[in-house]
Formats: sequence, C-alpha cells, structure tokens
Amino acid sequence: MTDDDHSTTDHSTTDHSTTGHSTTDHAAASLDSHSTTDLTEADRELISRAESTTETAFDPDRWGGAHVVGAALRTADGTVFTGVSMPANVGRTSMCAEPVALGAAISEGHDEFESVVAVRHPLPEEPREFEVVPACGACRELIADYGERIGVVVPHDGRLTKVDAIDLLPTRNW
Ligand SMILES: [Zn+2]
Repeated sequence: MTDDDHSTTDHSTTDHSTTGHSTTDHAAASLDSHSTTDLTEADRELISRAESTTETAFDPDRWGGAHVVGAALRTADGTVFTGVSMPANVGRTSMCAEPVALGAAISEGHDEFESVVAVRHPLPEEPREFEVVPACGACRELIADYGERIGVVVPHDGRLTKVDAIDLLPTRNW
C-alpha cells in the first residue's frame, strides 16, 4: 500500500494531507508561487455531490470497513459526474474515485473538464465529518493528462483551495 492509495483501510487524515510529505516545505512553497483560487459556489456544490455519492456507496460491512472516497467532476459545460473508490482484495488493483468519475464523463462524450474534488467518508467509529482529500500522485498525473488546467480542490494551509492540476506536479515535463 502506498500513501497514494485512497482506498486502503488504515490511512489517517494525516496520511492524505501530507501526500508528498518528504518535501512538505518545498511543495508548500511551490503552491504559493502558483495561482490558487478560492472555491466558488459551484465548487461547494461539487463537494456536496462527492459527499452524497460517497454516502451512497459507503458500506461498513464490506472491505473490512475500508473507507470510501467519492469524487465529483465538473465538465466545461457544467455537467457533474461522480465516482467512488473501489477497494480490492489485492491492494494494488484498487481504484481511486477520480478516474471513475473521469471515465463516466468521457463515456458520455465529454472532453473538457473544469474542476474535480474527492472526499473521504469517515469510518463508523470516527466522529469526523467528510473531509476533502487531495488527489494522490497517480490521480494528479491522470487529471493533468486530461486537462492541465483542471482545478483540483485540495486542503492547503488549513483551508480548501483550488489548484490547477499541472501546478500540483511542478516538475512534470511530459
Ligand atoms: Zn488517486
């Protein structure tokens, strides 16, 4: 299992919020040097859609209580598609929620995307609310492939902000 895997059972909030933890200071500096934008009302609605999708899919009796991450993706014409993570017995075959949402949009002919967000459902014993989780490294690559300027909602410096996918991959050069 890796830090990039949303669908594993034992990831804490800290794991998600410190993706790329070995370069936390560096990453923070990189983000600050790029444009981050405040969330719009449409982005808040996108978060709500991801939460409701995650609520629908969450089943504490399956996958040993593995949490479910839900994603919501807004296309350029404002259509929203959702997806959920898919835990798997062989951990590396599990799937993040973002590609599922992206595939749903593509399957209906969309090819321009505006914003995406992923939220994590709390486990039954957890008092916490839903929380926005930053896209894992693999999803950042995938999202950027389908639109370098897709806005990815991420927690940063204690608040939610939206960052262009490419700016989450400051050294990517392909
Ligand atoms: Zn991912």
